[in-house]
Amino acid sequence: MTAKRLDGKALGQAMRREFAARVADRAAAGKRPPGLAAVLVGDNPASHVYVRNKRKACEEAGMASWLHQLPTDTTQAQLLDLVARLNADPAVHGILVQLPLPKQIDEDAVIRAVTPLKDVDCFHPENVGLVVTGHPRYYPCTPHGVVRLVERNGIGWAGKDVVVVGRSNIVGKPLAVMLMQKRTAANPAGCDATVTVAHTRTPDLAGVCRRADVLVAAAGVPGLITPDVVKPGAVVVDVGTNSVGGKLVGDVAPGVDGVAGWLSPVPGGVGPMTITMLLDNTLRAAERIDG
Ligand code: NAP
Repeated sequence: MTAKRLDGKALGQAMRREFAARVADRAAAGKRPPGLAAVLVGDNPASHVYVRNKRKACEEAGMASWLHQLPTDTTQAQLLDLVARLNADPAVHGILVQLPLPKQIDEDAVIRAVTPLKDVDCFHPENVGLVVTGHPRYYPCTPHGVVRLVERNGIGWAGKDVVVVGRSNIVGKPLAVMLMQKRTAANPAGCDATVTVAHTRTPDLAGVCRRADVLVAAAGVPGLITPDVVKPGAVVVDVGTNSVGGKLVGDVAPGVDGVAGWLSPVPGGVGPMTITMLLDNTLRAAERIDG
């Protein structure tokens, strides 16, 4: 079997064109463009690339974006002061503080300082709580990108046995919550799936993975998912973004495309969908704040 491709690049571009049309309608109605303020502390090369790609996507969709670049030795007080100013700025609808932050800064304190209405990453505990209780204000970007990438390719989640490998606060845990939830009008990305979450303390990871109709790899371990742990015809979503010898690779090993029914590539799968869902949240934030 040669797996069909879950093409996040093409889907992301199509969705961004829809957003651009909505942004243009807002402009025609005299409303200011949705605005994303990106905050980058230090000189982590991967973070620079992520922020550049996010800002470029914003601008292509007609949204405003600003970059606040701070030195590595920025203090927590300085960063919190910037966040407070962005919270109060009416042109800013979304605030993105790129993680990781230098070690002198308490990430949790910064996440909690972003006003929940402008928390387009959906990291603030208030927004996480709203997702968990089925009344989301925003959805977290990478999990939402995974959900849409699968279903916009005509694959339903309801009733499927899904295995998520990884339980981080950014990917695995919120994704598992969204996948298991009842789909309602208030929670349109609830998936009604039966979900298993695997991690480093899971015995027999291979056996768990083999049960999956849909297998989501979000461990950050290159080549973790080998062809022998994939059920023939399964949908495999590769969230992994790992640099190996200067090359970007996922968590899925070569050869899985010979067993799976569908597979998301790296690059060109979940990565562009994550950025697309960030734009979705920024547009939603503008609609909430400005009407
Ligand atoms: P993380 O915080 O390091 O979490 C990794 C998770 O995977 C942990 O829960 C860990 O288990 C589990 N894990 C690690 N090794 C494992 C193994 N051998 N077997 C089973 N479980 C294992 O990473 P993250 O932030 O969730 O990111 C995961 C990957 O996704 C990374 O490659 C990251 O770069 C990528 N990512 C991509 C996007 C995108 O837009 N494409 C966005 C975010 C992240 P324990 O909890 O037991 O330690």
